[in-house]
Amino acid sequence: MVLPTMIRVQAVLAYAGLEPPAPFDDEWMFTACPACATPQSLAECTLRPGEAGDTHYRCKNGCQDLLIVSPADDAAKPWPGRGYRFGAYVVRNAVQVVVVLGSIRLSLLASTAALLPETDRPSCPRPSGLPRRRRRRSPNGNRRIAHN
Ligand SMILES: [Zn+2]
Repeated sequence: MVLPTMIRVQAVLAYAGLEPPAPFDDEWMFTACPACATPQSLAECTLRPGEAGDTHYRCKNGCQDLLIVSPADDAAKPWPGRGYRFGAYVVRNAVQVVVVLGSIRLSLLASTAALLPETDRPSCPRPSGLPRRRRRRSPNGNRRIAHN
């Protein structure tokens, strides 16, 4: 039996072509569970493999998924609020995550569509009656990183 490989957020960021002042580490990424309000690092979350190479980060108290790492799909239609794309992966954080890199704080605001099932993906984002192609956007409707 081949065990599924679970991709961690630290690995996604490490291979995204960024040049951080310190290594990305799940122990230095902080969030809080919306259900039990417990602050926790991503290293404290319970990980489990999901469908199609997803990695689910669950609250350490078992309440709910806080974040899902998914392989990016270039063929998929844009989905505003799905998450942040870094390289070949999308970080779907249902809650805000603060990434600490030495003295720098990098804030990933919560993605409103992070936990919705793939079947809820917008099927036709192009308004009818507009023959022109829409301006090209990044897949999954990802946002830029906001600095705090
Ligand atoms: Zn919780």
